[in-house]
Amino acid sequence: MPGDGIGVEVTREAVTTLETIARRFGHEFEFETRLIGGAAIDTVGVPLPEETLQTCLASDAVFLGAVGGPQYDSLPPRLKPETGLLGLRAGLGVYANLRPAFLHEPLIGASPLKPEIVRGTDLLIVRELAGGAYFGQPREISEERGLNTIVYTAPEVERVARVAFELARGRRRKLTSVDKANVLESSQLWRKVVTALAAEYPDVTLEHGYVDSCAMALVTRPTSYDVIVTENLFGDILSDEAAVLTGSLGMLPSASIGGKVALYEPVHGSAPDIAGKGIANPFGAIASCAMLLRYTCKLEREAAALEEALSATLAAGFGTPDLKSQPRQVTTTEIGAEIRQRIESM
Ligand code: NAD
Repeated sequence: MPGDGIGVEVTREAVTTLETIARRFGHEFEFETRLIGGAAIDTVGVPLPEETLQTCLASDAVFLGAVGGPQYDSLPPRLKPETGLLGLRAGLGVYANLRPAFLHEPLIGASPLKPEIVRGTDLLIVRELAGGAYFGQPREISEERGLNTIVYTAPEVERVARVAFELARGRRRKLTSVDKANVLESSQLWRKVVTALAAEYPDVTLEHGYVDSCAMALVTRPTSYDVIVTENLFGDILSDEAAVLTGSLGMLPSASIGGKVALYEPVHGSAPDIAGKGIANPFGAIASCAMLLRYTCKLEREAAALEEALSATLAAGFGTPDLKSQPRQVTTTEIGAEIRQRIESM
């Protein structure tokens, strides 16, 4: 689903790159394109048409560009493009949001941190996506009081922690569980469940950390992390913090897994300020395809090849205007073509 704004531009590059992977490695992918967000509102009046959701549920994986735009700001909440995205996540039943933060060496100057601190950053945040403060009941607002509730059940914690342990197993075998167990009962349960589950993963080193100290450590010693697992609210904040370490928002991929069908999307939005200019950074969208190949298709070799082509394109100096330090400034399509040409010649 291309969605809106630059979503359309980066999705084109992502799909074309998957087609190149298919050709180069002898696979066949079938693509269906559907409406979501503003594009769906303009055409059929709702941000998530039933036909879109049904097509997604009948697919192996879903790729999304981005949704939203200023022309929809005055719509009532249930008709906003972003409501379509929330409905999609709920409809797919995804509960673990994976946000890797990997610093490509050529972009070291784009990070707000000193090179000696940020060099080598390669971490993965696993954010619980379906529970916690954003969904807990009761919730209410009056003139005098606003109320939200953090609720976690043991099965909700266990299923997302299991995803994180499994992912740590495929990486450097270190898992940091982040909570606020010194203050919150929901965090005490979280810590207890994660600790109990660790017995099934003796090969993974588990450490616990408080969210405040993790926020600090992410900018003082980011390389000390491998996989971080945390609840919805903390994950929302920490994953944005981790994102800026690596340069541009346009670089970052994501996957939402655990439900019936996994959802892959770049972290950025529809960027109305640059939409239609051909200068959107497609790296995050294309890197999301590598996650799709790895987690849904179980095609590790192809995922690694895509990531290698992406790194080589950066190392050759190519970049869109958001990557100011890159000497060879090109368009969205040219970045895609550079990546694809490297895949073809592998
Ligand atoms: P945004 O991510 O769209 O843009 C923030 C800034 O980063 C802008 O200056 C933009 O030009 C730049 N940027 C973002 N992605 C880029 C890329 N790939 N290449 C180059 N520059 C890039 O966030 P925003 O401006 O806060 O939101 C714009 C719209 O997108 C809003 O309607 C918002 O609700 C929506 N949004 C959607 C998603 C999503 O679909 N998952 C996520 C975030 C925001």
